[in-house]
Formats: sequence, structure tokens, C-alpha cells
Amino acid sequence: MTNTVIEPFKIKSVEPINFTTREYREKAMREAFYNLFLLKADDVLIDLLTDSGTAAMSSKQWAAIMDGDESYAGSRSFFKFEKVVRDLTGFKFIIPTHQGRAAEKILFTVVGGPGKIIPSNTHFDTTRANVEFSGAEAVDLPVPVALETDRRSDFKGNIDLERLENLIKKVGVANIPLSILTVTNNSVGGQPVSMANIRETRALLNKYGIPLLLDACRFAENAYFIKLREPGYRDKSVREIAVEMFSYADGCTMSAKKDALVNIGGFLALNDSTIAEKARSLLIMTEGFPTYGGLAGRDLDAMAQGLTEVLDEDYLKYRIRSVEYFGDKLEKAGVPVLVPTGGHAVFIDARRFLPHVPPQQYPGQALAVEMYVEGGIRSVEIGSVMFGREVEGKFVSANLELVRLAIPRRVYTQSHVDYAAEVIIEVFKRRDRIPGYKITYEPPYLRHFTAHFEPVVEETAQV
Ligand SMILES: *Cc1c(COP(=O)(O)O)cnc(C)c1O
Repeated sequence: MTNTVIEPFKIKSVEPINFTTREYREKAMREAFYNLFLLKADDVLIDLLTDSGTAAMSSKQWAAIMDGDESYAGSRSFFKFEKVVRDLTGFKFIIPTHQGRAAEKILFTVVGGPGKIIPSNTHFDTTRANVEFSGAEAVDLPVPVALETDRRSDFKGNIDLERLENLIKKVGVANIPLSILTVTNNSVGGQPVSMANIRETRALLNKYGIPLLLDACRFAENAYFIKLREPGYRDKSVREIAVEMFSYADGCTMSAKKDALVNIGGFLALNDSTIAEKARSLLIMTEGFPTYGGLAGRDLDAMAQGLTEVLDEDYLKYRIRSVEYFGDKLEKAGVPVLVPTGGHAVFIDARRFLPHVPPQQYPGQALAVEMYVEGGIRSVEIGSVMFGREVEGKFVSANLELVRLAIPRRVYTQSHVDYAAEVIIEVFKRRDRIPGYKITYEPPYLRHFTAHFEPVVEETAQV
């Protein structure tokens, strides 16, 4: 019996990656103000910045691209795309957008606004930014175990139903236009939400007449975790599980750059005709005509094909296992990783990795910089750079200081992952000599993309 889970594809087209020296990377990091988003991608060897828009498309998707119909209105590609999304989600109104955040912007322009509260298991950063930009408040209600990075639990992505009900009672139904479940829950480590939790959320919201939306970016990975872990789902197909997940919701936002296996695209899907009509008007103003929504016709074809391929269970088995393999390797070497590993990424707990760097010196940023300098690995901080705030002049840290190593879909092989693990283990060996960072420039929203940093030299020298 063999037990190695292999890549369920062979490679038809390759793209070289660039080797650089440590001195070169030190200089590149300085010139990028220690912000990994500001590096040139050509200066990165293994790019684990994000799994968003970085997938390798299949030969069938490339063939679908050739078949795209670029008609301005009523494109054949749209109807193909619409059918695939409707068959999967059951939603009535399917509105294509150029990516997930465009769907969020439109949605919260329609339902958000001052005084409104949007509860979620955890809002992703662009979701939170779009909620807040509308004047509404984004409230995260993860289950408490989500914050314990060293505790294994099957569904750490769940929403805390008790806190959700308390919030509804406190602020009143009239102020909650909808609630969102992010599947999988990216910001707490790509952790899945159980079917039971989705079902119970639906039941609770029904009691108050509040709609439920899914942030469905990684619906297929979530469905596969349900199959693996939740009683009663082992013999169901992942497709059936995904269909059931969507059946409890009134709509979804989707970044097709994740589980639709494309490099650009997204959509907003709704059952409510009033909201859908307002959304379409905004779409025409900012994205484009409703049958292309900020995309080329061929992109819609590639999405339709990707949404079909992503439910292939050999693919999902490889996908989830290859991420877990990376996490296991680091865990065995003593690196503090969030367990269990999520669907799209390995998360390192930077607070435990660098206990001498306080949250206000951004331990996640410090660790991300070192992994790049050590071996050309690009990751992203998901901690106080992304979610920290100033409240009345005082620093308020994020709940967790994480570094995410996101795995692009179908892009890297096992030896790339082995190399990345070796680099991280080298950094771990010299962890007590790694300095903290301070921010020297930041914009008002989504600062992690463009902020500038500098190492804090004196203070860490004393530790
Ligand atoms: C990526 C992502 C988004 C935003 O999608 P974009 O396509 O990047 O605009 C929203 N929610 C979650 C959970 C995501 O991972």
C-alpha cells in the first residue's frame, strides 16, 4: 500500500524562479522599507504572500479562455458562468465583479452605513475595510478556541452563537442588515466552519429575521474539511456538502481568486431582488455591465471551469494534505504553528516565536522580514500591522500575531515546501537575535499594503 499523496496533475508549462544572495535580499528589504508587499516579485524565490490570484490554471481553463465571448452585453460566457454558480449556490441573482472586494464594496454601499453593525465569525481585512468605509461597524465573534493557536479543534472557524445572540439583543435587529460567515475563516488561520455551526447560525438569525451571507472564497476547502471531520458527511460528495452550505445562506460574496482557481474575478450572489437591483446599479457605475462586471468574457469562462475543477476530490485531498505536510514539518522542529493547519496556509504564531518582541513592535512583521532575508520566502503578517489600532492615543494590538505562509494552488511542489521549511527552521534557531519594528509611514486604510517600517535597534539589544 502506498501512502504518499501526490500532486494530481503533471506540468505542461513552467516558469523559472530567481535565486538571489543574502546581501541582495538585505538590500532589497531595506529598499522596500521592510514591507514585503513592496518587494519586486522577481526578487522572491518562493512566494507565499498569498493564495489569492496565484493559482496555476488547468489546460481546460486555458482552453475555456480561448472560447470566451467578448460581447459587451449578453455574452455566452456570462450565461455559462451564471449557470455554474447558480447550480452550485442556488442563489437567484449572480453579479460578476472584478474581485471579492468589489462585491463587498457594492454590498456594503447598499446595506451598510452609519449606525449599522455587521457581525461575522471574523471579517477579512478587505471586508472590514469596506464595512467601515460605509460608516458601519464590523464585529468579529470567533469561538474562543480560535484564539488558542496551540489547541487542536476541528472547527476553529466557527462563530460564537451566544455572543451573536447577545449582540443582536443589545444593538437591535433594525441595526443589523445581515451577518456574514467567512468560510474558511481566513483571519483565524484558514480554519473551517462546521455545517452544524452554519445551520445553527441560520436558525438563530431566522428568529430575528436577519439575512445570512457567506464570504465563500474558500467554500470548497471548507466543504472538504466538513467531509473529513464532521459526523455524517464522510459519504457525501464535496459538491453535495458545498450545496448544503450555500442552502443556509441568502447570498454570498466570492473572491474567485481563491477557490475558483483563477487569477482575477469574483461575484456577489443574492436572493433578495431589492438589494440585487441596487447592487446592479452600482455595478454599472463602477465595474461594468451586469453580464461582465469588470471582467473580460474569457475570465468568466475560466471561473466557470475553475468552480467545477475545485470540487474534484483528488485535488482537494492533495490541497489539504500538502498544506498540512508543511505545517507538520515545522511543528516537528518546534516552530510554534497554529494547529491544526488550515486549508490554504500555514500560520506561525509570532508571539510565541519571538517572545522578546512586544506586540507594539510587530513580531509578525519581524519574522516575515527574516524569512525573506534568510531564504527568499515571502509571507505576510496577519497581526497588529494588519489589525492593530490606536484608540485615544493608545496602541491596541490584534488578537493574534500571526505570519501566514499561504500556498498558491497547484503551483509549488513538495521540494519547494521542504526548502521553505528548512529556511524557517534556520530562522527559528537564531530567533533571539531578531529585532522588533516600528512604523515610519502609514496610510489611513489597509495600512499593511503600503506602510514603511524600520528595525527597533536599541530596545531589542537590551533583551
Ligand atoms: C481574499 C479575500 C477577500 C477579498 O477578495 P479579493 O479578491 O482579494 O478582493 C475577502 N474575504 C476573504 C476571506 C478573502 O480571503
